[in-house]
Amino acid sequence: MYNCVICRYHEIATKGNNRNMFEKCLIENIRRQLKRAGVSCKVQRVRGRVWLSPEEGEVFENSVLEQIKKVLPDVFGLQSFSPAVLLPVDMDEIKKCVSDVLPEKFRPYRESGRKPSFRIRARRSNKRFPMTSKDIEIELITHAADLLGEDAFSIDLDNAELTLGCEIRDEFSLLYFDIIDGVGGLPVGSNPRVMTLLSGGIDSPVAAWLIMKRGSATDFITFHSSPYTPQETIDKVRGIAEKLNTFQRSGRLFSVNLAPLQKQIRDCCNERMRTVLYRRAMLRIAGILAERCDCRALVTGDALGQVASQTVVNMDTINRASDLLVLRPLVGADKLETIRIAEKIGTMEQSKVQVPDSCTVFAPGNPSTSVPAALAEQEEAKIAEYGKLLEKIAEEAVLET
Ligand code: ATP
Ligand code: MG
Repeated sequence: MYNCVICRYHEIATKGNNRNMFEKCLIENIRRQLKRAGVSCKVQRVRGRVWLSPEEGEVFENSVLEQIKKVLPDVFGLQSFSPAVLLPVDMDEIKKCVSDVLPEKFRPYRESGRKPSFRIRARRSNKRFPMTSKDIEIELITHAADLLGEDAFSIDLDNAELTLGCEIRDEFSLLYFDIIDGVGGLPVGSNPRVMTLLSGGIDSPVAAWLIMKRGSATDFITFHSSPYTPQETIDKVRGIAEKLNTFQRSGRLFSVNLAPLQKQIRDCCNERMRTVLYRRAMLRIAGILAERCDCRALVTGDALGQVASQTVVNMDTINRASDLLVLRPLVGADKLETIRIAEKIGTMEQSKVQVPDSCTVFAPGNPSTSVPAALAEQEEAKIAEYGKLLEKIAEEAVLET
């Protein structure tokens, strides 16, 4: 019975002059995600809304609708969506449709002998329509009671199990039963590209996802320490990047062997500062690749205080190694919150697999939680041709996907 899916957005609607760009980007993303799932339907923009309609025929096939329901909750920028019936602006037509649809919606309750709570939610943006929203609600609830019997439901205006939405707009009206939550945020691609430092851990995939949710598509860079870390270290991150790429037009993954530098740090620098020095090198190398890929910021999964390299002082010292803006969307997140997101977006399973990590190679048992930037610079100065070594390592980055 549904002949359209109406998509709502919130934050995009607050945009001024560039709202058009955001809407176009959203539509592009919806089309791409539907295509990826093998769903064919029309996607169009109609007066501040995006809606989907069947490619062929009058109404959506159930199987197509089910697939749409699977795809849309992953599209950044969508606040909510509803499978809906598109109708003329005519109360008789609306009531006729309610008569067609409502008995089916109430059937499970009738069969189980349970009385659901029910409400009508009307909205009228068409001010020429002769009834107010309240009038429409009263008219339709009366109609429903006539149709189903007074005893078929109880009315609950705040928390009903069944809600019938009715919108009266200038050119058409809409009826719908479900408001399905979208993920919110901004369409990915509406902000400049970024480069995520992706480890095999739980945090950095979530950080990448949160930044995509704010509109930036991302490329990825991962560091390994071959031969001290196995091929599995890279393979694991490749799998995570592939998963993350299902949320955006695919980004590239570069793998970089940090071992040559780690050996220099081991041989020349203060042992307790190693991790901070690794991190500073990672940011610098990521910055070189970011520039090549036209990425305007770096992204990491740092959370304040989580490990020794994430104290305020060490984060500051690490941060100073980067000329580029470093985005840390998890800086204030609780680990359990991060895990919940990782589970929701489907990266947790892969992150849980234990493989050796580049950062632990030659890592000290007792790392310093407070390495002032000046000291880190002093240590780096002990490495011969440090800058050249970084360039060389970046030069040898391998494009994995
Ligand atoms: P994660 O769970 O994302 O690994 P973490 O809590 O283990 O994070 P760290 O290992 O201290 O924290 O790393 C902090 C951040 O530095 C990571 O979130 C990631 O952005 C970056 N990072 C760490 N190791 C690597 C690596 N081998 N390759 C790429 N980025 C890395
Ligand atoms: Mg880690």
